[in-house]
Order: sequence, then structure tokens, then C-alpha cells
Amino acid sequence: MIKNIKGTKDLLPNATLNIQDIERHLNVFMNIHGYGEIRTPIFEATELFSRSVGEHTDIVNKEMYTWIDQNDQSLTLRPEMTASVVRAYIQKQLWKIEPISKFYYIGPSFRRERPQKGRLRQFHQFGIEALGSPNPEQDAEIISMAYNIYKMFGINNLTIKINSLGSENIREKYSNDLKESLIKFKNKFNESEINRLEKNPLRILDSKNKDTQKIVGNNAPNIFDYISNKDNEHFNKVTNILDELKIPYTHDQKLVRGLDYYTKTVFELISSDLGGQDALCGGGRYDNLVQELGGQNIPAIGFAAGMERLILAMNLENNENISTDIYIINVESIYIPKAMQLADLLRKELGVAVYVDSLRRSIKSQMRHANKMNAKFSVIFDVENLKQNKIFIKNMNENKQDTILIDNIISYFESE
Ligand code: AMP
Repeated sequence: MIKNIKGTKDLLPNATLNIQDIERHLNVFMNIHGYGEIRTPIFEATELFSRSVGEHTDIVNKEMYTWIDQNDQSLTLRPEMTASVVRAYIQKQLWKIEPISKFYYIGPSFRRERPQKGRLRQFHQFGIEALGSPNPEQDAEIISMAYNIYKMFGINNLTIKINSLGSENIREKYSNDLKESLIKFKNKFNESEINRLEKNPLRILDSKNKDTQKIVGNNAPNIFDYISNKDNEHFNKVTNILDELKIPYTHDQKLVRGLDYYTKTVFELISSDLGGQDALCGGGRYDNLVQELGGQNIPAIGFAAGMERLILAMNLENNENISTDIYIINVESIYIPKAMQLADLLRKELGVAVYVDSLRRSIKSQMRHANKMNAKFSVIFDVENLKQNKIFIKNMNENKQDTILIDNIISYFESE
């Protein structure tokens, strides 16, 4: 038997109904904040990600789904969406049209990580990107939107961690100092941590190993100590606005995000309800990325959030299946086409959900199915009534039933 690939999921209607609902809320939320949806292709030139996410990140090093296409071009399934949004922005020269572009996206991303609860190989992200504003107000808008999205979905145990990585290239100096401060503990680290320390010291900050975290916590320098006064001012302005907006946050001076393109403000939203994979969403400024990918010098900021982790935090595991308003029960199969015709009329005129059975089941089992689908009404097509152009309608919740002329069915349901 052919099975789905490890780290991917089939979502059945009881799961997709929840997701559709979440997406509907997200669409409205984004639109009322002035953000429009962007949809970019799920595969791109590999170079786009190696140049933006960073050659030495885990994502580019070992997690991308990459293949050589028939014309010898290297292509990759997107591991994240910011790079694609920036590529599209540059390609369409959108700064010429508006001084600020505000986008949101929802869709699948792909990373070959070790699958576990809340961590998949095909996962789904939603996120926002604002390109054009260098100002702290923009940072505060993005962070408060992230916070308000989770509040909208009823997630309470939320922590926002925020930090600044500075605008000039302080990464190199910080990386060197970090390495120097930790190299003396080399014998306490495992092989992969030693490797990280040698090749990309920043990655050691992401270690999930409690002992390593303790060593790092006690000995690593704070990246925040490396930033300039101007960047410090920017950071303070962002936190002042967050205070005014009553958005709670903690300043984590060690927070450095895994992707290379971040500058200045970075942040993460964590939920204590999630266990191991506790990051709900992460983002920050990427003021150099548009230029690095061949565009103008345009500052930008955004975040990406995991849909699966939102759903876990919402505790939406057990959901009802698809429901209907009206279930048309056929006594004889010859009437099924007539029932289908009536169903179409009801859907079109009243915008209600109507279900017609195609299994030629017994009345009893159609009735059972109608109950299972939470039908509010069943409409029974039986020979005797149909001879007089009538149908029998049963209100499934109240003990009420009527026999009416088929021609009156629209006005009947309109008054119900
Ligand atoms: P990142 O692009 O790494 O900053 O990730 C942004 C968000 O996407 C994270 O906070 C997670 O919620 C989610 N995410 C990242 N990788 C995965 C994954 N492999 N499986 C599920 N969710 C993920």
C-alpha cells in the first residue's frame, strides 16, 4: 500500500472545517488592518533561499527539498515565505506603485525536519510582511497584530519575547565572542553542538538541551549589548508603543532568530500550552533583504506563524463533521433526480445546505444519517404525497411536521 510521506498529513473534513474557519477569521483580520493577500508559487529557484535564509542555517544546509529540474536549474520547495514575497515585490517593482506594501499569506511550507508533535515536513504558515516603513510604529503594528491574532483565537498563555539585533553587521563580532565564551565548555556539548559552535555559533542559542541552555544562559554575551545607540532608541520606541497598546512582552536579550536576514527588532510568541515545540510565531525586521536580493534599499518587517501550532494551542482536536440544514429523504430511487433538482433550487434561493442521499438507502438509515449530519429539517419524498405534488417536512429538533405543496417550499422555509 502506498502511504503518505513521513511528516505530512491528510486532513479530513473534521480538520479542514476548523482550518477554513480559522482562515476566514484571518482573512477578515488582515483586511481590516489594511493587509492584502499575496500568493506566490510553492517552488522557487534554490538560490532565492540560500541567499536570503542563509547558507549556514539548518534550513538551507539540510532541510530543503531541492531537485535539479529538467533544464538543469536547481529548484526548491519553499521552506518559508518571506523570501518569495520579497522576490515578487522586487520583480513587480511595487515600491514604484505605493511607498508601503502590506501583504499577508497563508499556505504550505516544507522543511525536512525530524517530525514530532507540532513539527512537520509539510506544515502551514500564515504571516504578514510590511515593506517600506523604517519606523518603530511599523514594528509595533506587526507585533501587536501577532498578539491580537492569538487573542482572537482565545489563546491565553502567551509570552512575547522581543529583542534587537542592531542594524549594522554586528553578527560577526557577536558570533566570534559567543564562540570564545563557550568554547571552554566544549567537553560538555554533544557532537552536533560542537559542530554548531565551530560553523555557526549563533545556532547554539537554539539548543533544546537543558544543560547547554544553562551554560549558554550563564556564559554567553547578550547580543543586545552590541547594538548602537540609534538602534537602542528604535527598540525603546517600539517597546514604548507596545506599552501604550498594553501588549505584554519580555525583553530577552539573548533572542536571536534562526534565519540570517533579520536586523534590528526580532520577536517570538510562545505558548506555555504547547510543550516542546512552543514557538507559535516568529518575526522581525529585515531591512537589508530587499537590497540583497537585487531591489532598492527598502526596509521591511514581518512575521510567520505555524497553523498546526495555532490549532494545537486552540485545542480543536475533536470536531464535528460536515453538517446540513435540510436532508431530502427519498423513499424510492426514481425520485432522486427530482430531489436533486429541488436541492439545487433551495441552495440557490435560500443559500442553505441541502443533502441528497445517493446510496439508495432505506428511509430509516437516511433518517439516521440526517441526524448524524445535524439536519434541522428532513424533507420526505414519498409516492403518495408526490402524486398530489406535496412533500412531508419534519422539523428534526422540535416535534413538528407539515405536509405542503412543493411549489410552496421556498416560502415555507423562508418563514421558518
Ligand atoms: P520560522 O520561519 O522558522 O521563523 O517559523 C515560523 C513559525 O512557523 C514557527 O514559530 C512555527 O510556529 C512554524 N513552524 C516552523 N517550522 C515548522 C515545522 N517544521 N512544523 C510546524 N510548524 C513549523
